[in-house]
Amino acid sequence: MNDLFNWLFDLHQSAEIVDTKAAQSETRGRVTDLDDERRDLERRYERLRLVTIAMWALLKEHSGLTESDLRKYVNQVDLIDGKLDGKLSRNKGVIECQKCDRRILKSALVCVYCGHANSGGDSFHGT
Ligand SMILES: [Zn+2]
Repeated sequence: MNDLFNWLFDLHQSAEIVDTKAAQSETRGRVTDLDDERRDLERRYERLRLVTIAMWALLKEHSGLTESDLRKYVNQVDLIDGKLDGKLSRNKGVIECQKCDRRILKSALVCVYCGHANSGGDSFHGT
């Protein structure tokens, strides 16, 4: 009787070990996916930063605009969501692109991700 109990207990423990290993493998896969996404976001952030700095250098050199002008416009854009807090609220001043569903500024003429014309945020679009 005791042997039967031990055998059943071992069988149960073996099944638990198999389930735990499967869960561990699934978790490891998700961590790897998240790490890949983080690396992609970092790469995109660095590319965006590079292009933004280059655009500002180009604009400054060819337009005569100053750092003060840039700060003024940054503040104006920051205030689109009603708060001067160094970021845009995800709800105000931002819409989802009708084609790719990514978030873009209401004032954007085209989606920065897919190039789709944005007609949702600009009353003068198409005029
Ligand atoms: Zn888009």
